Amino acid sequence: MTTGNNKLSGEKSRRTFDPVKRAEDVAAVVCKGDLRKYYRFRPARFYGGIATSDCVGCCLQCIFCWSWNQVVRPEYFGQYYSPRDVAGRLLNIARKKRYRQMRISGNEPTIGRDHLIRVLELMPKDTLFILETNGILIGYDKTYAEDLEGFHNLYVRVSIKGCTNEQFSMLTGADSQGFDLQIQAVENLYRAGVRVHPAVMVSFSSPEDIHALQSRLGEIDKGFKDVEIEELVLYGEV
Ligand code: SF4
Repeated sequence: MTTGNNKLSGEKSRRTFDPVKRAEDVAAVVCKGDLRKYYRFRPARFYGGIATSDCVGCCLQCIFCWSWNQVVRPEYFGQYYSPRDVAGRLLNIARKKRYRQMRISGNEPTIGRDHLIRVLELMPKDTLFILETNGILIGYDKTYAEDLEGFHNLYVRVSIKGCTNEQFSMLTGADSQGFDLQIQAVENLYRAGVRVHPAVMVSFSSPEDIHALQSRLGEIDKGFKDVEIEELVLYGEV
């Protein structure tokens, strides 16, 4: 992959960057041992009600990102929390709201692997943890998927950016090969026995592109042809 601008701050750049290298650079800012930076804890209405912690730091720079400031300037946002702090806050919200679902959202939860695994270990078995990820790190390293295999209350949603390598790069600013890592993440998780489903942002894709992606996902498992479709909703600065 070509390596371009990996600075953690600045304007949206036209040069692409290696998303795996960027994840390493971002981790150096948002992780300290098994601590991870978060900027918010909240109840959210999605999935019928879910306790949500919003982490800081991502390895992509999507042009439609609703938490853009935390993505490009992670050093200025949030505080470090231990896995026990995060689990405790999620469980408190869930208890108050009578939710049975939790998630880490905001930016990319897979940055800080030790932290994420520890949070999952602390989740009660009768709750559901929904991991929303861009899949880059899980596609890059299949042992990440294998580490997630033992969590039977885990469900992973891989959010694929566009339907082709070129669309991925246009939408995220990252090297186009990152698209293949997203697809590989779906495959790695599926092969590891983790419950997973793909979702795809199609607002910039033709019906032919969508069909081609469905076919590609269908080669992993027929059920993935029925990929969840995401459309861009314009609001605020997006
Ligand atoms: S993957 Fe998600 S958090 Fe990261 S830049 Fe894209 S929309 Fe934002």
